[in-house]
Formats: sequence, C-alpha cells, structure tokens
Amino acid sequence: MLDNKFTQYKLCEEIIQALSMLHYIEPTPIQEKVIPLALEGKDIIAKSKTGSGKTAAFAIPICESIVWEENLPQALVLEPTRELAYQVKDEIFNVGRMKRVKVPVVFGGFPFDKQALTLKQKSHIVVGTPGRVLDHCETGTLKCSNVKYVIIDEADLMLDMGFLDDVKRILSYLPENITIMLFSATMGEALYALTDEFMNSPVEVKLEDGT
Ligand code: ADP
Ligand code: MG
Repeated sequence: MLDNKFTQYKLCEEIIQALSMLHYIEPTPIQEKVIPLALEGKDIIAKSKTGSGKTAAFAIPICESIVWEENLPQALVLEPTRELAYQVKDEIFNVGRMKRVKVPVVFGGFPFDKQALTLKQKSHIVVGTPGRVLDHCETGTLKCSNVKYVIIDEADLMLDMGFLDDVKRILSYLPENITIMLFSATMGEALYALTDEFMNSPVEVKLEDGT
C-alpha cells in the first residue's frame, strides 16, 4: 500500500486500498492535475484525450468526499449514453467499493417507477443520462438538495447529441455553491458558453500532448 503513489493525496485508507485492488498505483497525468483541485472543491474544465483516465480523475475525489451516513445523493454524474453510464458506474463502484458507496444509474427507455424506487433508497452518487435525470429532478424523485459535486462527462458528445439544454436545466435544480467539473476530449465555443454561465472561476486543465 505504501508504494501506491495515490497516497500523496489526502485519501482515506479505503480508497487507497480500492485503487491498489484495481492496480492503479500511480495517477495518470490528468488525474495528477485534477485530483488535488477537485479535493479543494474547485470548479474544473478538464480536456484530455479518450483513454487518459478521466473517469477516475473525478471518481476518486467524489468517492473520497462521500459521507456514508447521509441518504440523499451527494454527487451527480451526467453521461451521454446508457453504455457510458454503466461503464462509469462500474468505475465509481470499484473506486468506492471499500467505502460501500451506493451508485444507482438512471437512463431513458427503462421503467421510470423502478428507478424512482431505487432512488428512494440510500443513493450516494447518481449516474445518468441527461433526459432521464431531468425527469427525475422535475418529479422530485431525484432529490438534489444535498448534491455537492456535479460531473458533466464526455461534454463534447453531450453537445453533439443535443443534451446541452437538458444539462443546463439540471444545473438549475442544483444547490448554489456546488463544485462543477466538466470533462471533454475537445472544447469549443458552445461548451465554454456553458462553463462561463454556470461555473465559478473554473480552473482549466489541458494536456496538449493528449495524454
Ligand atoms: P477517459 O475517460 O479519459 O477516456 P477512462 O477513464 O475510461 O479514460 O480510462 C481509460 C482506462 O485507463 C481504463 O481502462 C481505466 O481502468 C484505466 N486507468 C485509469 N486510471 C488509471 C491508473 N491510474 N492506472 C492504471 N490504469 C488506469
Ligand atoms: Mg471518459
């Protein structure tokens, strides 16, 4: 455990242990930049290529921040597709495994009421696609009053798939002063318009060599 380079961050033993189980022994360059900022609660725009480890870059700080005893969601992770939502749920589950972090997934095309029942149980980090997350916000089946982190993942894909308005409407349901993190392989004007509107002095992390 001692040779795990993630010990350089203030992470609890349960997270370090889970990372070692995943054979994550040193942070990738994007993780090295994002994790300390996210632990401080900074708003972040992170741009780096696919496969650079962006999921754990947000999964580690949000799992670290989870207070197990609280029942209402403490973080919300938005993904453009159901497949990505499941992949990211798995990664968060693995990182948070030793803390027994609860990670329900919500997406369209699946019975709303069943998801509503799942959301009624203890939910620490909710992962979902924007349309269905918005539906649950609007009906009150997803209670956002305790949310402290929101992740807009694969933001360039969200934009291409026409989800930006749903994302904006979801952000309007969230408490003020939360930490917003946006992850993307590319950044353009429309995404900067979103970050300008909703983020509070974001730190921009770019890896120009793409790693
Ligand atoms: P991105 O979201 O940037 O496209 P992913 O988060 O999907 O990238 O990560 C790509 C791969 O790298 C995954 O298979 C993941 O398990 C692996 N990975 C992430 N972080 C580390 C790490 N610190 N050490 C080793 N492998 C890692
Ligand atoms: Mg990703």
